[in-house]
Amino acid sequence: MAVWKCNNCGNTVNVAAPPETCPSCKKKCEFVDVSCYTPDCGGPDSGNVDEKVFVESSKGIK
Ligand SMILES: [Zn+2]
Repeated sequence: MAVWKCNNCGNTVNVAAPPETCPSCKKKCEFVDVSCYTPDCGGPDSGNVDEKVFVESSKGIK
């Protein structure tokens, strides 16, 4: 399980692989893996979002 963030609307989904179409904005979006892989935010099995990665990835949104 990983957490994917839609780079169009910022919606996150917890699935193994990113969906082709975002369930929130219904568009074909680029999904970024924002899963937590460090113990700081709960580890890979937590299903948590790594806030640092989340914020970093959001910088690319126009
Ligand atoms: Zn979206």
